[in-house]
Amino acid sequence: MSINLTNPIFHNDDAARAHLEGVRWPDGPVCAHCGSKHVTRLAGKSHRKGLIHCNNCEQPFTVTVGTVMERSKIPLPKWVLGFHLMAASKKGVSSHQLHRMLGITYKSAWFLAMRIREAMGLDPETDDGSTMGGPGSKIEADETYVGGKARNAKNGKPIPKKHPVVALVERDGSLKARHVPNVDANNIREVLAKVDRRSHLMSDDSLIYYHVGPTFADHDAVNHSKDEYVRGEAHVNTAESFFAIVKRQVYGTHHAISAKHLQRYVDEAAFKWNNRVKLGIDDATRANKAIKGAEGKRLLYRQPDKPVRAG
Ligand SMILES: [Zn+2]
Repeated sequence: MSINLTNPIFHNDDAARAHLEGVRWPDGPVCAHCGSKHVTRLAGKSHRKGLIHCNNCEQPFTVTVGTVMERSKIPLPKWVLGFHLMAASKKGVSSHQLHRMLGITYKSAWFLAMRIREAMGLDPETDDGSTMGGPGSKIEADETYVGGKARNAKNGKPIPKKHPVVALVERDGSLKARHVPNVDANNIREVLAKVDRRSHLMSDDSLIYYHVGPTFADHDAVNHSKDEYVRGEAHVNTAESFFAIVKRQVYGTHHAISAKHLQRYVDEAAFKWNNRVKLGIDDATRANKAIKGAEGKRLLYRQPDKPVRAG
């Protein structure tokens, strides 16, 4: 992790605000309510710092309005450091570590981490199902099960059932992963609906891929039930390495997560995968992409402590 902790954006309110504004509005402030650029900064002692007035809709706003940081009492430099710590960490950062490193309560650290994960996730409003793959592209589809052994964070009871996570990975490309209610042919067909049919599909020999396989330009299935894991270029090892990262984070760093938040952890791991160093993305750029992703997510929270996902 390469974070320069002496950077004022991690200590000073004004520096942190300027940083957040620069990432969110590279071309100057845009009204968080109506999208107008016709805005005036309100200066002076009678105004809260960072307050901006919209001359179009006449409403005030700051850089945190309309983001996962809205209405939070956590100081801005701690948010900025939280984004950088989480974006830079390969293993994931536990709420307990954030609590100690940021000097905020454990509860605040938990909310901060959950909201940053939300910022890292795909926006259901704008994730229009952009397609993956194309001619010559190799797409691995695979599923894993998380839970069963893990304990529920709140009451220490084991999560009663294992929760399936499906991943689609384009070799040398991007990845999408979803916590699904169960794995069956219908679910898999729905997940694969966003994959270009001209792609070459790689899966295991599970029957759920039996009908959907022939709809692709090519389909190779490795025979996991007969201990076959690689046959030429046919394998789902890239998806398996992603699942190993998810499980290491869930069991190793967090020890316990509640099943209803599993998608958050999957989102965090997928975000880091899609913004990895190998693709030329450094820690600071990754943190700024997460900050940028904080926009437009706030509405998904009905209540501060009850994150919900649309759809
Ligand atoms: Zn406005």
